Amino acid sequence: MHVWHDVAAMRRDLWPHRRAGRAVGLVPTMGALHAGHLSLAARAVEECDIVVASVFVNPLQFAPGEDLASYPRDPEGDAGLLESAGVAGMFAPSPERFTPPGRRTTVHVGGLTAGLEGASRPTHFDGVTTIVSKLLHAAWPDRAYFGEKDYQQLVVVRAMVRDLDMPVEIVGCPVVREPDGLAWSSRNVLLSEGQRVHAVALSAALRAAAESWAGDADAARRSLRSTLAAAPGIRLDYAEVVDPDTLEPLAGTVEGPARALVAAWVGTTRLIDNMPLGPGGAGRRRAGR
Ligand code: AMP
Repeated sequence: MHVWHDVAAMRRDLWPHRRAGRAVGLVPTMGALHAGHLSLAARAVEECDIVVASVFVNPLQFAPGEDLASYPRDPEGDAGLLESAGVAGMFAPSPERFTPPGRRTTVHVGGLTAGLEGASRPTHFDGVTTIVSKLLHAAWPDRAYFGEKDYQQLVVVRAMVRDLDMPVEIVGCPVVREPDGLAWSSRNVLLSEGQRVHAVALSAALRAAAESWAGDADAARRSLRSTLAAAPGIRLDYAEVVDPDTLEPLAGTVEGPARALVAAWVGTTRLIDNMPLGPGGAGRRRAGR
């Protein structure tokens, strides 16, 4: 498997594939790879002729005081996992080269970035969209794979690609969970054994909301908030029920699909999770499981 540290080398190696008409897939990650990332890689390998994964802990999406320094890193382990998954190359630029001090350009998506994660982390999505657009320009993939685990990010990236006419298809992939329901996250390794037990409350509350969903957005929001506020070892940041496309909070009776999103602190680790409500949601799927 190739490992590239700079854009020019990756472009040089990908160009012959593109010229030969092969479909290029990109899986952007921050590394410390787990089953969630590998599900994206597997889908990309299935759907594309050549797949590149980027491993870059994006400093622009962390605010001062957030966990950039302690964010888990395992470049060698990542390379091994990607190679076994059939990924052809790993793009691992250095922060000094990829985000040099003199850079002046920021890609900002309005509206969708104001609430939820954006309310707690006001500079986060500018960091995400600036680096995702750099990655898309660097690899020029036909398809780029993103997880629904970061649901707001997926919606924001789709809007950016649409608004800027970027010639790439954004493929959203479902959340992969550990057997007890906890969504895989690179940050899970930062949890103590006790915190790991407490963290299950997030997915349990979402599943309960999905299973009891009867189209009442206010009732679902209330029940999520009260369940998570009472859960031991958890400090709730937000629990919302939103329109899956616009991310606007929903109120009253909802006919179509909805999405519940939560964020909470477990000790010093901040976790996010979400689930679909309504048509296609976990509640409906349960019967056929
Ligand atoms: P990250 O390394 O956390 O920035 O994640 C890289 C990509 O993997 C993002 O598109 C995430 O949404 C996706 N991802 C992370 N965890 C999961 C998961 N548990 N299930 C599905 N996708 C995930």
